Amino acid sequence: MLPAACAALLRSIGSVTRGAVLGVVGIGLVGGLIAPGAQGDDSAPAHGDGIAIGPASRIVFATVAEGRAVLEADDDFLSRLSPFDRAVRLRAAEPVSPEAFKARVGEGAAEWTAAERDRVRAAAAAVAPALVRLALPFPERVLLVKTAPGTEGDAAFTRGPAIFLPERMMRRGGDPLERLLLHELFHVLSRAAPGLRERLYAAIGFVACGAPALPPGLDARRITNPDAPTNAHCIRIEHGGRPMWAVPILFSESAIVDPATRGLFAAMRSQLLLVARPEEGPAVALLDGESVRMVDFDSAGGFFDQVGRNTRYLIHPEEILADNFVLVVLGGEIRTPAVTERLRRLLQP
Ligand SMILES: [Zn+2]
Repeated sequence: MLPAACAALLRSIGSVTRGAVLGVVGIGLVGGLIAPGAQGDDSAPAHGDGIAIGPASRIVFATVAEGRAVLEADDDFLSRLSPFDRAVRLRAAEPVSPEAFKARVGEGAAEWTAAERDRVRAAAAAVAPALVRLALPFPERVLLVKTAPGTEGDAAFTRGPAIFLPERMMRRGGDPLERLLLHELFHVLSRAAPGLRERLYAAIGFVACGAPALPPGLDARRITNPDAPTNAHCIRIEHGGRPMWAVPILFSESAIVDPATRGLFAAMRSQLLLVARPEEGPAVALLDGESVRMVDFDSAGGFFDQVGRNTRYLIHPEEILADNFVLVVLGGEIRTPAVTERLRRLLQP
């Protein structure tokens, strides 16, 4: 998931807004508009053979029907949506049932224009040779879906084997679009290769620990990231002079959706939830009275020693790694080369 507003801060690695609020990302879209290369060819087929990105993998443009099918698929994302998740995405002041949400979610798939396909195809072709050399286990067909305005807060995101791109993030092509595609491709790879994903998560200190249950008040305003719908990986940090386990979680400051002003990213917050790890079962949130105990990323001892400082997009190990994956493939400002080196070794054939 990469929100457009944050994407505009491309290359502002290390720039800080409010603590861990979204808006601090390592990659995004900056730089001049590129002149569209060839004029769009409206007769171009929606499919074609696609662009090879691995030994058995190609990127192809999806039809609206294919995009709709992925959006409506019963995956982890749809099944984990909180009441806030559903309401904010439909900008509804009233509660939205899972059935009502599912009936609308497919509307997010839109028709490509020829010019958009040209830009995205050029970006995919530019990164493809480096990906082919890595011989990564991407799915056989990675679908590119254009999204209708407002879908997922106009963020780029992934579901299943598909990358969803909003129109506004395609206006600029070239290097920013290549970086955006690579970030999203990482999510598709991670979903398709769970074993590799666990090794990559471990390379930045995250181990599988089971998703902790949240108290109802917090669970109701939990925000689900389609790129990483579960929060089931713990990291060791130091807090109050003691070693503790923590899980990054994403939530809204307010449970109330104001249809006029509250977009998906308007009130998004991310912090580290302190948890215990029992011998059996998932991690358990530590409570202080009725409230969970949470820590800002910047005050979690040892956190950056493990995840590095190559990105400020810290909401989930999946996102930290997606930004680092871009740096592994295309280079860029790397503040913690040890992290990109660890990833490079795990990704090499
Ligand atoms: Zn992402």
